Amino acid sequence: MLVNLNEVLSYTKVKKFGVGMFNGLSADFYEGVIDAAEQLRCPIIIGVADRFVDRLDFEMIAEVMIFLAKRASVPVCVHLDHAKSLKNIMRAIKAGFTSVMFDGSSLQFEENIKRTKEIVEIAHSVGVSVEGELGVVGRGDFDFKNPEFYTKPNEAEEFAQKTNVDALAVSIGTVHGVYKGKPKLDFERLSEIRKRVDCYLVLHGGSGLSDEDFKKCIEYGINKVNIFTDLTLAVNAQLPEFIKQTEDLTPAIFEKIREIVKQEAIKKLKIFGSYNII
Ligand SMILES: [Zn+2]
Repeated sequence: MLVNLNEVLSYTKVKKFGVGMFNGLSADFYEGVIDAAEQLRCPIIIGVADRFVDRLDFEMIAEVMIFLAKRASVPVCVHLDHAKSLKNIMRAIKAGFTSVMFDGSSLQFEENIKRTKEIVEIAHSVGVSVEGELGVVGRGDFDFKNPEFYTKPNEAEEFAQKTNVDALAVSIGTVHGVYKGKPKLDFERLSEIRKRVDCYLVLHGGSGLSDEDFKKCIEYGINKVNIFTDLTLAVNAQLPEFIKQTEDLTPAIFEKIREIVKQEAIKKLKIFGSYNII
């Protein structure tokens, strides 16, 4: 069934676990993720990253995502990740998405509040949830020594209050894509943010973290964990060998992608404690 972000994350108030948000690229990815959630009986979020909106046929893939969400036997939220413009947010809302992220993290603090608040007002008027971001979750270039990269607990409190966002992405030392070196997360900061903020908290840049890191993040207050890179790495690692071996090439490739994504999603969801919820 299709639900919004607020509904899908509300399960974390009953039991402590992390809801998985998996970005995808095609129907096979989304089918694989939903297969995993149905097998484990947990709520799930399927997403598409804003940087792929113009590369994919967005309206077509949106129809597919919403169809799959409605058909699923578990709650599924359909989410736009890292939107930087109102234009793409409106496209997603028009297409039937139930959740959008506005990433104003590169804006000045006051400007981020102002624009996020506007988007929350529009989205909430049609039942769509909003995720905001404070701090910088970079792409392999996180400067661990620069305090400006991290989410400041006092700013998080003010941001959540003034914007009324449903969820907030925080920067505690994670990066998008593949890590250079070992990640070092600031759990003290996370727990301080958790104390000050009522809305749900989101961890970006989850691919590449250890099982222990994930568990600790959830323990310290993360409700939603974003994964994309680890799905694509699993497909990249397993598909070429499969192609060499199979004779029934074309249909089998699509089935294989669905299966690889399913298994990788199951692996992650189990770490997040995301099973036997529904
Ligand atoms: Zn992200």
